[in-house]
Amino acid sequence: MITVNCNLCGRDEYRVRFPATAESDALHVDAFRCTHAGYGHHPQIVECCHCGLVYANPRWPTGTVLDAYTAVEDETYVEERHGRELTFRHHLRQIERIVGPADGRALLDVGAYIGVFVEVAAAAGWRAQGSSRQPGRRPRRAGAVWPSTPARWPRSICRPSRSTW
Ligand SMILES: [Zn+2]
Repeated sequence: MITVNCNLCGRDEYRVRFPATAESDALHVDAFRCTHAGYGHHPQIVECCHCGLVYANPRWPTGTVLDAYTAVEDETYVEERHGRELTFRHHLRQIERIVGPADGRALLDVGAYIGVFVEVAAAAGWRAQGSSRQPGRRPRRAGAVWPSTPARWPRSICRPSRSTW
């Protein structure tokens, strides 16, 4: 585990938002599967006192996390696709209660995996796109899923035409 400064403003003053729930500092690749019983266990989550960014600190080095995401396979998640669509439609309605209807606005799903939420959002009228560690290996029907590295994203993701916030 490493300690890091805020990725947004570079400062190192934070308050703890959520104590760690992971039982150890060891990283287990299986725990990166959404359908794993240990999914959701996390290192300490903090909030930057200056800009409000919420992030994990301390955390595993970036390369270690990327390697784990690259190695993970979750066939159960794919097999449960219909249930995911229902869940994501529910979540999208909750989001729209806060930010308003799609109205052709941009939506970015960071960590889109196989792009189910991107598809659901696109069907609801969002200009939906997502990022995934392995976009080339994932099926997708609507929207687009791009590599997780922002430098490789299309300009339209980095500079949406209208903010949703
Ligand atoms: Zn900050």
